[in-house]
Amino acid sequence: SEPAQPKRIKALDPDVVNKIAAGEIIVAPMHALKELIENAVDAGSTSIEVLVKDGGLKLLQITDNGHGIDREDLPILCERFTTSKLKEFEDLTSIGTYGFRGEALASISHIAHLTVTTKTAGSSCAWRAHYGDGKLVPAKPGQNAAPKATAGRGGTQITVEDLFYNIPTRRRAFRSSSEEYAKILDVVGRYAVHCAGVAFSCRKHGDSGVSISTPSSATTVDRIRQIHGSAVANELVEFEIAEKKLGFQASGLATNANYHVKKTVILLFINHRAVESTAVKRAIEQTYSAFLPKGGHPFIYLDLEIEPQRVDVNVHPTKREVNFLNEDEIVEMVCSEIRSKLAQVDESRTFLTQT
Ligand code: ADP
Ligand code: MG
Repeated sequence: SEPAQPKRIKALDPDVVNKIAAGEIIVAPMHALKELIENAVDAGSTSIEVLVKDGGLKLLQITDNGHGIDREDLPILCERFTTSKLKEFEDLTSIGTYGFRGEALASISHIAHLTVTTKTAGSSCAWRAHYGDGKLVPAKPGQNAAPKATAGRGGTQITVEDLFYNIPTRRRAFRSSSEEYAKILDVVGRYAVHCAGVAFSCRKHGDSGVSISTPSSATTVDRIRQIHGSAVANELVEFEIAEKKLGFQASGLATNANYHVKKTVILLFINHRAVESTAVKRAIEQTYSAFLPKGGHPFIYLDLEIEPQRVDVNVHPTKREVNFLNEDEIVEMVCSEIRSKLAQVDESRTFLTQT
């Protein structure tokens, strides 16, 4: 029989492309929140407040006291690939900020209703703008879309409402808002531990109390105590190691051999970005297996800084994965440093019980 006729190939409408890309970058409310926290930190904020309704699906609001956004930039703020952080591709190798390609706000504006209220030090008032599909839109149909002057403190407030309102299958995939809220708390908690000098708070809409509240002056151990409890915070050993030839430095806090939890907790930051790494997790669990009883696991906060030219941050838009040179050697050096700290504590314990 005759083969079927091929269908003609056509370019997708840019709005469709943007919506598909956005749904890949922002899979769950926690991913939007992570981008918004990183933006707030990039803006030099010392206070970051998070408000959440319905696991972030109804409302995600982040209020910071950073440098704000110029009114003149508001019209292009949510266009794809608009950024104040990157100019040349080569800049990717030396970038110190979290964001680098201007996709976060654009993505969010394609799958949610986005409102930005911002004030710079040089402006006498704050400006409020609403966004949809990458562009300024009116607050109400028929009104003017231009940013409006309003009262406000220095810094930026980003309000994300009705996330995935136009992707009904995705929206339906979220069964439990408390599950999404737990993931949000995990993200806020990670940055709250890591970002020295920054106050964090996270609150569920309608709750009188806050879930997380860390003052800007809190030490890293205080931050861990606030978020993970005194039992963990009281049993931490500090470690630090650097190697010029491998272009890295690492520091952190890890529970000692007298303490263990049911599941390994690793707060891993590579160049100040919260990431996951199965290689790091495996190596750390291996290290602790010599010290802990069967079924016992550690809590670890690991702050790893690697020369930017050795890191390939460009692997995926979500940036959840990070590749770097000499990964095996670096992970082994960090683990052997932790091993020697654990052995020291173990020895002093043996010594104490003997005397
Ligand atoms: P990127 O962070 O990759 O540049 P984003 O879409 O996350 O891209 O943000 C676009 C731009 O908006 C940033 O480059 C920054 O100039 C500005 N911006 C976003 N959030 C904030 C904020 N909280 N405070 C100040 N400026 C911000
Ligand atoms: Mg960003």
